[in-house]
Amino acid sequence: MRYLILRRCVQISLIVLYILAHYTGFKILEGNLSSSLIFGTIPLSDPLAVLQLVLSGGALGGQAFLGALIILMVYGLLFGRAYCAFVCPVNLVTDNANFLRRKLGIKGNLWNISVSVRYYVLAIVLVFTPIVGLPLLELSNPVALIHRGIIFGIGYGISIVIAIWLFDLLFVKNGFCSHLCPVGAFYSLISRFSLLRVRYNKDKCTLCMHCKEVCPEKHVLGLIGKESGVISGLECCNCGRCIEVCGDDALCFGIREFISKEKSNENK
Ligand code: SF4
Ligand code: SF4
Ligand code: SF4
Repeated sequence: MRYLILRRCVQISLIVLYILAHYTGFKILEGNLSSSLIFGTIPLSDPLAVLQLVLSGGALGGQAFLGALIILMVYGLLFGRAYCAFVCPVNLVTDNANFLRRKLGIKGNLWNISVSVRYYVLAIVLVFTPIVGLPLLELSNPVALIHRGIIFGIGYGISIVIAIWLFDLLFVKNGFCSHLCPVGAFYSLISRFSLLRVRYNKDKCTLCMHCKEVCPEKHVLGLIGKESGVISGLECCNCGRCIEVCGDDALCFGIREFISKEKSNENK
């Protein structure tokens, strides 16, 4: 449970800091997930939101670009798609739907949707944004709507929360995050060269497959039972679920370069 506890601590702490900044003078982190300031000076911007604003012809200050660059470096170079597992508030909703699925014994999906659909959604957003001259996703982005709803008071974002929850509970397992969300797709794409990776040791693996049962992106675990190495699938969100359930210590977090050297040593 250590990574689950860590993820919840980070998610809830960020929300608390945003709320404190909005309602009191305690401004460690102010703003929202689209645009924030740490200690009133260091900018953080959602790079996908910035990209849409640029494509739609909007004027942006240097601070927005600097904030986007910081986020790109944090996730693109270091933590990969960890934004989804550790920061995004929608993850709390979808994890709850998953939990209820298990408790209620709901298995299978009512719809079959490819996990690639999210990339098409992202492409459509980026193609149509300059055509209509509006940051399309920002008008309906559930991540931003839910987060702003929590901080500034829940509005119509509650209907989106309920829709995502019902979709994941009744229609498709991990339906929204692992199939449809363009924000998750964007973070997957930028994580191609990130350092933090899950590492697999085939010699310790007893093929119990518990890791595949809990992984929200089980297609990234293709090397289980085949070869030792790094989980390199872009969609791995570094949630640590697979590591938590592996009773044989065959999975752990590692650093990409270190893993590569170790793998080549193993193969000698
Ligand atoms: S896939 Fe989208 S909604 Fe799901 S956790 Fe990631 S950003 Fe949030
Ligand atoms: S949970 Fe661990 S032991 Fe079981 S299949 Fe996955 S890596 Fe192998
Ligand atoms: S491989 Fe492990 S860390 Fe990556 S998404 Fe699946 S459960 Fe999470």
